[in-house]
Amino acid sequence: MKTIGLLGGMSWESTVSYYTAINHGIKERLGGLNSAKICMYSVNFAEIEELQHKGLWDKTAQILSDAAVSIEAGGADFLLICTNTMHKVAPQIESHISIPILHIADATAETLILHGIRKVGLLGTRFTMDQDFYKKRITDKYGISVVVPSSKDKNTIHNIIYEELCQGIITEQSRDAYLKVIDKLKHEGAEAVILGCTEIALLVQQKHTNVPLFDTTAIHANAAILRSLGEG
Ligand code: GLU
Repeated sequence: MKTIGLLGGMSWESTVSYYTAINHGIKERLGGLNSAKICMYSVNFAEIEELQHKGLWDKTAQILSDAAVSIEAGGADFLLICTNTMHKVAPQIESHISIPILHIADATAETLILHGIRKVGLLGTRFTMDQDFYKKRITDKYGISVVVPSSKDKNTIHNIIYEELCQGIITEQSRDAYLKVIDKLKHEGAEAVILGCTEIALLVQQKHTNVPLFDTTAIHANAAILRSLGEG
């Protein structure tokens, strides 16, 4: 079994989901007392969030690169950055380590392809919904077109992530707000919606809507399990 490197804490609420999903997956496949080999570094998200919102991405890249170096030194065979947003600085992190990064957008797009999805809605932080590092990768590398919410809806989605989900706050009102945006994306032609922020599945799950949802946390964790067992 290979050792999975987790660069977590962004937020720790979703790192818990990764840790649980990966260990459940290993136990399901191998049974008994088997559990995942994991080397994790969990950052202080308050520092990262402040730098993100000030646009100081190079500083976030430095903090995450240092963490990734520690993870590699701790024995990880490959690395997961446990957030969609911070894949913005994945190329900088990659340049500091020699183990590969299992990219969350690649794992997600490969799953979409398996399900025959050609046009997909994307929910995430404003950084993920607005900028090229994520959407463009899915479109250019996999030929899947990506629809994002209106500017007003992007603000709603973004603010709920930072003010509630990353702080463990789950409300009916915010779930309804998300479900309305998901319906709008469907009306714009999305065949499915990517939960492109690792906390969203804490709020919205498949049981809440008929629109097919692709949860990046579950997909990324599953890809890690397969890689760890030499199957992916
Ligand atoms: N976990 C989130 C994501 O997947 C947001 C937190 C962050 O900005 O890293 O994008």
